[in-house]
Amino acid sequence: TRPFSSFCWCRPGGMAVYPDKIAVIDDDYRYTYRELGQRINRLSHALRGDGIGKGDHVAVILPNIHEMIECFFGIGQLGAVVVPLNYRLNPDDFAYILNHSDAKLLILDAEYAAVIEQIRDRLPGIRQFVLVSRGAASSTLPHIEYEQWLSSASPDDPPAVDIDENQTLTINYTSGTTSRPKGVMLTHRNNYLNAANFLYHLQVIHDDMYLHTLPLFHVNGWGGVWATTGAGATHVCLRKVDPARIISLFNTEKITLLCGAPTVLNMMVNAKEASEVDRSIPRRMAVAGSPPPAAVLKRAHELLALNVIHVYGMTETSPFITYCEWNHHFDSLDDEQKATVRARQGIEQMFSGEVRVVSQEDPTWDVRWDGQEIGEIVTRGNAVMAGYYKQPEETAKTIIDGWLHTGDLAVVHPDGYIEILDRQKDIIISGGENISSTEVEGVIYQHPAILEAAVIAVPDEKWGEVPKALVVVKPGFSLTELELIKYCRERLAHFKAPKSVEFVESLPRTATGKLQKFKLREAYWKGVRKRVQ
Ligand code: ATP
Ligand code: MG
Repeated sequence: TRPFSSFCWCRPGGMAVYPDKIAVIDDDYRYTYRELGQRINRLSHALRGDGIGKGDHVAVILPNIHEMIECFFGIGQLGAVVVPLNYRLNPDDFAYILNHSDAKLLILDAEYAAVIEQIRDRLPGIRQFVLVSRGAASSTLPHIEYEQWLSSASPDDPPAVDIDENQTLTINYTSGTTSRPKGVMLTHRNNYLNAANFLYHLQVIHDDMYLHTLPLFHVNGWGGVWATTGAGATHVCLRKVDPARIISLFNTEKITLLCGAPTVLNMMVNAKEASEVDRSIPRRMAVAGSPPPAAVLKRAHELLALNVIHVYGMTETSPFITYCEWNHHFDSLDDEQKATVRARQGIEQMFSGEVRVVSQEDPTWDVRWDGQEIGEIVTRGNAVMAGYYKQPEETAKTIIDGWLHTGDLAVVHPDGYIEILDRQKDIIISGGENISSTEVEGVIYQHPAILEAAVIAVPDEKWGEVPKALVVVKPGFSLTELELIKYCRERLAHFKAPKSVEFVESLPRTATGKLQKFKLREAYWKGVRKRVQ
């Protein structure tokens, strides 16, 4: 039997139905779906020639370039496992993941060759390095050139491999926002549900021009690979996230769809080129990965004419859990609400699984739908991961009685919408009251002088913990600590307003743009008492 799997499901749209259509645009290089199909086959044959087959792990360290798109299909159709790595990791993390994941072959961009060269002695399991150098100066790492490797392999279909839909297709290490990355095993079934959710909820069609803004090593990033190909739409690559370049591609390539973290949206609305956006092209952007401040969503709506779809999810759920059509929601609000309301999420809207918000004391109980009682979001269904690779204890702590515990806190409103408050680890408990750091950040973002903000718990003798804000001020603006505290106290319950403010140049973020609050907290909690970091 040849079961339903993500790549054979996604191929027909682009490769069978639109062979002559442009599949991929990568700067000046563009090629058709026929060529994409051939390049993928060449890649599979080349891998086979190097002894890679069903069940073998192939690691990939590539930015959002066409070779990365090819890897997902070329490795996948062999029944092998794709291990996409975050290219911004440090050498120790690269060594840890490359060993932990049991990768046998590594495909990497020349940009990262020097880092890998440094740790080469620590990578005994890697039998072959394949370098994407595009004619740039060669590396001293013993390698084969990607393009040469492909050109000597056949463009014909590789031999069919029996793939069970429960077989692992990707192992992706989580963003590492809160701890050392864990290898999330997603099966073929998980991945085609990713594609199905993506296609359905973001309404991808063959006319779409999809800009790969989100790193392709992230589950939400490669969801765009399956969905765009499945629909026969066009992939537009983006090597580096640069707001000016994104805005220029909006106009020149007539981009209709993109995904990105709120940070990217924030960069776009603050870019000086923002006013140059051609607003006549209807454009959707899925904003996902961390809570988007309402003030940023509002500006995206007004300035960039973006139809924002706010998605909540995680690597472990490949990735969609809930979503919300922001504009639809937004249109029903008055001006004051528009500036303050936080994006809400529809409950049970994804067709891949069930979602509940359960009591933190007893997870068999649902919280009251009163917008007050705080609980943890849990989910179950076919999109939930097979487990963490070689970490059965971690898996058992996360999937309990079939329900995946997200570690995210939320309330449910009487109309059934859930509002995500914070990660369990980021919530601030001050004098027994819960303060959502993201709610406070949302208020700070309304201040015209603020470019970026993070709110964290710092120790306090009287209250146990109190909120502290770390902010980046926009160039040309000035702001004092007292002014910002006063601004927050006018708009928030007093106990929620930051007790202190620190002005910083930048904030620590993961490659997907998530705030690493544990790094900010570290300095304040050393030697005080143990706080779960
Ligand atoms: P790690 O698990 O290694 O600490 P991570 O949790 O950031 O990293 P991901 O799987 O990329 O890794 O992110 C999922 C998390 O991101 C969710 O559990 C949630 O905390 C946060 N998140 C994602 N989307 C949203 C959203 N729309 N609103 C609020 N938070 C979100
Ligand atoms: Mg996580």
